[in-house]
Amino acid sequence: MQRLTPPSRDELLSLRPPKLDNDPEKASGYIVEREPAGDGRTIASATYFLTGSECRFHCSFCDLWKYTLDTPTPHGSLTRQIQSLHRDLALSGNQVEWLKLYNAANFFDPMNVPFEDYESIAAECESMDRIVVENHAALTASNACLERIRAFRKLLVPPLEIAMGLESIDPEAVRVMNKSMRLGAFERACDRLSELSIPIRVFVVLQPAGTRVDEASEWAVRTCQYAFRLGAERCGIIPARGGNGWMDRLAREGRWVPPDLSTLESTLHRVFATRESNDQIATVDLWDWDSLSGGCDACRNVRYDTLARMNLEQRSVERPLCSVCENAE
Ligand code: SF4
Repeated sequence: MQRLTPPSRDELLSLRPPKLDNDPEKASGYIVEREPAGDGRTIASATYFLTGSECRFHCSFCDLWKYTLDTPTPHGSLTRQIQSLHRDLALSGNQVEWLKLYNAANFFDPMNVPFEDYESIAAECESMDRIVVENHAALTASNACLERIRAFRKLLVPPLEIAMGLESIDPEAVRVMNKSMRLGAFERACDRLSELSIPIRVFVVLQPAGTRVDEASEWAVRTCQYAFRLGAERCGIIPARGGNGWMDRLAREGRWVPPDLSTLESTLHRVFATRESNDQIATVDLWDWDSLSGGCDACRNVRYDTLARMNLEQRSVERPLCSVCENAE
């Protein structure tokens, strides 16, 4: 496949589809799911998708800007969104132990989450057993950001976990991702969070632009291994997707192919087979299941259930080959 040129910021912006009509007083929603705890148990966790200002970075694969504002996050709006989602969650009858506050940007960037809101946000988290927020590793590695992390953690009753996007260590993918981060910055961020005993969750992208299709699984496995060596508690493997304009153009031109179901399955099996300890938690992201290609009507449900089970049980689960699309006898 032809070597890709990383897009300029202007090119990325010019190819974007229109942003959604986002309201600073309205979160995008929430989901409830179970996650492996790492000790054989599973945890009920909610993810709140909060609406705030757009991330300062422009990663070439990212489509999260769709859910953001063009202006700084107004003071107090995230707290009010969390309160509203708490009410929705209570009405649904779901009870959760962990809460992920995902704002489609960086929790510890003051443009995205006003510093003066830390106290009221922390107060809304008191009843949880763990709070997870996302932050870019290059920010996390900076002294100013570490001060904000310390300040927020001091206000929190439950422990804090920080999720960071590593995405891939494939040099070709790194070259075109526009991640604004060298691996050294990611390593520093992990070191600093480990010094603070803050659990680290790492996002790994399966088959990003730049990675060869026949090497996609291998690079995702190596990226997880790298993250685990740096002290990550868990790696979430996310199939690369279109939707931000630039990735869609690459797909139309045949210069990037989204990963399929078989690649996702084989990657999780391989990560389980190669990790050094069962404390190293790996899951595949099934949030965007419907857009993942592969399988057929006869097997997709079984394959979803098998991956969901592997996520929760943290072990390989074999499934029967599909008699329709996998040539099972
Ligand atoms: S740092 Fe995260 S939110 Fe920001 S552009 Fe990159 S992937 Fe998107």
